[in-house]
Amino acid sequence: MGDRWHVEVDRSLCIGSAQCRHHAPDDFRLDSARQSHPAEPDTDAAEQILAAAENCPVEAIVITLLGSGEAVFPPEE
Ligand code: SF4
Repeated sequence: MGDRWHVEVDRSLCIGSAQCRHHAPDDFRLDSARQSHPAEPDTDAAEQILAAAENCPVEAIVITLLGSGEAVFPPEE
């Protein structure tokens, strides 16, 4: 069975660049203040969500393993 992820957007960091929407249009929504929200905070692991996190210019997208809370992105130092 694949991993399950918990996805959060740190809205104090998000600058509304919409890169996440570009990489994962079904997985992120921008609200009227151009703040990004995960469509499903708890979701199956998916390449495009990781790509969104990796390409966010301010590293506002944090992915952890659901359950253990282990860091997926940004990776543990
Ligand atoms: S890519 Fe990052 S900064 Fe841009 S809208 Fe998405 S979460 Fe916000």
